[in-house]
Amino acid sequence: MMKTTVKSLERSRQNLFIGGRFVEPKSGNYSASYDPTTGESWYEFAEAEAADVDAAVAAANSAFRNPAWRRMTQTDRGRLVRKLADLALERADELAAIETRDNGKLIKEMRAQMRAMPDSYHYFAGMADKLQGDTIPVNKLDMLNFNVREPLGVVGMITPWNSPLMLLTGTLAPCLAIGNTVVIKPSEHATASTLALAELITEAGFPAGVVNVVTGAGRSAGEALTRHPGVAKYVFTGSTETGRRIAANAASNLTPCSMELGGKSPHVVFADVDIERAVNGVVSGVFAAAGQTCVAGSRCFVEASIHDRFVEALVARTGRIKVGHPMLDDTDIGPLALSAQLTKVESYVASGLREGARIAAGGKRPQTDELSRGWYFEPTVMVEAQNDMAFMRDELFGPVVGIMPFSSEEEMISLANDTRYGLASGIWTQNIDRAMRFANQIEAGTVWINTYRSSSFMSANGGFKESGYGRRGGFEVMREFSRLKNIILDYSGAMQDPFVIRLK
Ligand code: NDP
Repeated sequence: MMKTTVKSLERSRQNLFIGGRFVEPKSGNYSASYDPTTGESWYEFAEAEAADVDAAVAAANSAFRNPAWRRMTQTDRGRLVRKLADLALERADELAAIETRDNGKLIKEMRAQMRAMPDSYHYFAGMADKLQGDTIPVNKLDMLNFNVREPLGVVGMITPWNSPLMLLTGTLAPCLAIGNTVVIKPSEHATASTLALAELITEAGFPAGVVNVVTGAGRSAGEALTRHPGVAKYVFTGSTETGRRIAANAASNLTPCSMELGGKSPHVVFADVDIERAVNGVVSGVFAAAGQTCVAGSRCFVEASIHDRFVEALVARTGRIKVGHPMLDDTDIGPLALSAQLTKVESYVASGLREGARIAAGGKRPQTDELSRGWYFEPTVMVEAQNDMAFMRDELFGPVVGIMPFSSEEEMISLANDTRYGLASGIWTQNIDRAMRFANQIEAGTVWINTYRSSSFMSANGGFKESGYGRRGGFEVMREFSRLKNIILDYSGAMQDPFVIRLK
């Protein structure tokens, strides 16, 4: 039974989850987790160091070899993943409340995410006994040549703070369905929901050590995990800078990675659209979750003939967005999750102003008594933006959109692709030929046409360019977290003399 609740977390000390038990960190060190609405500490998490990471990887390796897991049928593995899905659904609202308290995201959004998350576990549970190999012809008689798919071993998962459980699901569910074991290192800024999920893993009946959670800072626990020779693959979700470092660490052991990194996604609006609909699309694309989404459409290109009308409508809509406490149902935007994030957003807005952009809406912290203590920032529209300004080049991970006019399709595509990132993109137009030309030319892993941010665990998502490699979702991910083994069987009953070569 999951014991962790928001109430039980208050002023508590949370331990590591290794080998099926909650254990104290070897160093005895704990650090504070902060409530983004007040900036105050609300519980402490254990600081794992190299020795704890060693223990977690050893537990995962031993679980991988344990016949209770290794020799379990794929159908039974699928059954366990389904059980986990059912438990997660029962506890969805509590898991949502924990995430909101930890990272400040809206309770209504987290509830929707947590209630939808079990569907993803069910989807991959159904694939557990459908991952099949193939039979290959061979130019010999009485010989069978076939490929089988096997689990990889221990998968190291490093997750960010913005949607810890939802982002974990896309790889944890398939990894368990395939038969891998895992060590998870959540962000130090939001660890509690992953530890609560660990309780459900035990309750579902997974053998001890199949899932382990090491909390702690990226620079210590994360470094130790990504340099560990006992890990078969890493899956990382986070910034491009950290991804680069992790890939270099992993390379020293020739360990492959799957990288889901940052973005600076273009959102394009043509003159033939219903402006209100496109404004809603742009608002949801960049201001949802206070802009703390990897796919945020933070560079908005608007056809010159409607630029002024579009900006006017966007500014009016932005003015109606309610910034407030994330637990209130009428709040549209909550605080940023970290104080460093708030400072970063402020400094990029200031640099945008210095470089010649202008604030058309927002641009500062809300000044009310109620909000001034938390890490809130107003939804911000910057006009007269240019692609080479720092706030248009770098990922802010905050509620800021830069607007630029364009005059031709060629100009638009060249502006849209002028970025080191390639995660997502969106276009608003009624012209299907134009939409498909955009889809063909844009350098991004996802293209939304007349919508934005709609996603499905049934399709494979991932980045181009510096937004990463590897895919999440769909059947593709079952291949990414399994490996092929080729088996050749001679059933002729004879072994030819190796020194007699028959020429044709
Ligand atoms: P970071 O890259 O700062 O951190 C991500 C994770 O990596 C955290 O668990 C962090 O731990 C850990 N980490 C940090 N340094 C190291 C290290 N040297 N070795 C190993 N692990 C390390 O990203 P954020 O948490 O700030 O998340 C925001 C970023 O994530 C944005 O760039 C966003 O675009 C990206 N993201 C991408 C998504 C995608 O699907 N493409 C989805 C969601 C977010 P700790 O926090 O404890 O330091």
